[in-house]
Amino acid sequence: RSKEEGRNRYRFFTDEMQESVREALQLEIDLRRAYRQQEFDIYLQPKICMATESVIGAEILIRWPRPDGSFLPPDVFIPKAEEMGLIHDIGEWVFRETCDTIRSWQQQNRIPLDFTFAINISMRQLHTGHLAEDIAAIVKEVGIDPNCLEVEVTESIMMQDPRVTIDALNALHQQKIKISIDDFGTGYSSLSHLRQLPIDAIKIDKSFVQALESDGQADAIVNTIISLGHNLDMRVIAEGIETEANRQALTAAGCDVAQGYFYAKPMCREDFLDYLDRYSASSSHSSD
Ligand code: C2E
Ligand code: MG
Ligand code: MG
Ligand code: MG
Repeated sequence: RSKEEGRNRYRFFTDEMQESVREALQLEIDLRRAYRQQEFDIYLQPKICMATESVIGAEILIRWPRPDGSFLPPDVFIPKAEEMGLIHDIGEWVFRETCDTIRSWQQQNRIPLDFTFAINISMRQLHTGHLAEDIAAIVKEVGIDPNCLEVEVTESIMMQDPRVTIDALNALHQQKIKISIDDFGTGYSSLSHLRQLPIDAIKIDKSFVQALESDGQADAIVNTIISLGHNLDMRVIAEGIETEANRQALTAAGCDVAQGYFYAKPMCREDFLDYLDRYSASSSHSSD
């Protein structure tokens, strides 16, 4: 009997393992098709200057719609695309799509010229050795100012291979592309590396922002990150602001830029333009 159970359990596990292998393969097939058939979209989430309350830019977040209208989260398919090496093509697509959008919105006077678009990049993109050249080529071809572009690199990625990271970020900086460190506080930055890197901004990870109301230590961490950033001449951005209390706490702590559902969720391009129109209409009413 116990032998039987053992065998069943073994069968159970292998079936489950087979299933997960099958799912992983299916995801690869779907991802290749999605790239070929351009199934991806870019969404934008506004970044708000806390002092002036104006929208100063947006973070670009990739979206992959499923047939039922829902989205497969990037946290699920980006790691797979990295593993497959497809991240280079997808990443290039995101850059090109973003640059085309910038050019067309600038031409139509929908955004100010200094409006900044932040694109997330993953480790394998950073480590090609020619990311900065690739981006510079796209920027030139499309005909926009590289100053409008910012890349977001997570802190944990940066510190995996500091030498390669330092070279890659310096190359981006030479191309006039801004750099921010994403999910700050969750990785293990060496302070000496931070000081050497051409970083414009750090983004406080949303886990600290969201713990502000319930956890006194989160308050201390947030304040420490803000002073660290300011002492190193960097702007400090808070992500994941969901409540008015979060907003007040971060304003009081001297945070520069805010982002989160409290202001707006990531939106498709059309909705983002509507948001900008509505936002500027309402703020010009309230400011005088
Ligand atoms: P991230 O860069 O840290 O982006 C922030 C994530 O938090 C986004 O999730 C965003 O939708 C979400 N978020 C924004 N405001 C709030 C809030 O107030 N509350 C909460 N709970 N969440 C908020 P998303 O879009 O699912 O992206 C997840 C991650 O996937 C990103 O984290 C980024 O690391 C990666 N990613 C997204 N787009 C790209 C891309 O084009 N290329 C690469 N390489 N990675 C990407
Ligand atoms: Mg980001
Ligand atoms: Mg983040
Ligand atoms: Mg993240």
